[in-house]
Amino acid sequence: MTTEFRSEFHTDDNRPYYSYGAYCRLIFGRPMQKLPVAAGFTCPNRDGSKGTGGCTFCRNDAFTPGYCDARLPIGRQLDAAISFYQRRIRPETGFLAYFQPFSNTHAPLERLERLYNEALSHPQINGLVIATRPDCVDKQKLDFLAELARHIYLCIEYGIESTSDATLQAINRGHDFETARKAVEETARRGIPVGGHFILGLPDETGEMLLDRVRIINSLPLTTVKFHQLQILAGPPMAALYEQQPRRFPQWTPESYVDLLAEMVRRLRPDIVLERIVNQVPPRFLTQKAWGGLRSGELWRLLEKRLREKGAHQGDFLYLCTGDSPRGSLRR
Ligand code: SF4
Repeated sequence: MTTEFRSEFHTDDNRPYYSYGAYCRLIFGRPMQKLPVAAGFTCPNRDGSKGTGGCTFCRNDAFTPGYCDARLPIGRQLDAAISFYQRRIRPETGFLAYFQPFSNTHAPLERLERLYNEALSHPQINGLVIATRPDCVDKQKLDFLAELARHIYLCIEYGIESTSDATLQAINRGHDFETARKAVEETARRGIPVGGHFILGLPDETGEMLLDRVRIINSLPLTTVKFHQLQILAGPPMAALYEQQPRRFPQWTPESYVDLLAEMVRRLRPDIVLERIVNQVPPRFLTQKAWGGLRSGELWRLLEKRLREKGAHQGDFLYLCTGDSPRGSLRR
């Protein structure tokens, strides 16, 4: 079973999940580094087109690296990011411009075209990753992006956050899950790789619910997923809610979080790339110390160890449920 799983989904790094590294080697033949770029966008949940308060967990400055400055031209931001990473990565690594903060399709098409071309004109950039909200794309933008994706690598990452409408409403997201489903489907239908970003540990969402909802994630035509734990940041309304009603939030330790992730990975379609499992922000933005300062690499090692202890792989629970072989059809 293990051998077949690997050969089918090209997990050439011997990991029990489909890693982003394996995906990049499949697509580009080498490792790739995403370089965050701040292009001066805002988002409809802040500029009044949908709302003004933003999502209740959001604090964009916490997620934006210091070298990423919207006042600088995109080329200079990319140069700064390349110098930052150059001493930390292998020499053969390629680069993707990652339009990350806020909603990077929330502008007229002409402006999007200019900004994306500015990134693509950098001689060391091999493609684009564009993060946005599911309600910030339309037919015209997707057709334009699909045309661009015929010539270069392009992935659109949607902030989906939860598959539950009640949760999306509670966090003031300003769109429902059906909007996310349609955006993912319309994007994938045009042949564009699609990423989905989900937050684990939002109020009133238990581990059991999250395990069950992997079925819904599997039903989406996603190429990559990012999971990360909710972090309570100083400032946004989520901090006050946490202060007043902490019992509405799961209190995971690194070990129990990794246990949950391992079970989610076992239920995840094996052709979906597991790109991220944890989020880290500088400690000054946090209301509590995050898991004793445990770093992302350590969480990945814990997850791999946990899966190996169980003799488990990404998607094997699907096969157990259906009785199919790894090459059999998946229940979606
Ligand atoms: S999470 Fe994204 S959509 Fe929500 S307020 Fe922040 S930037 Fe806007």
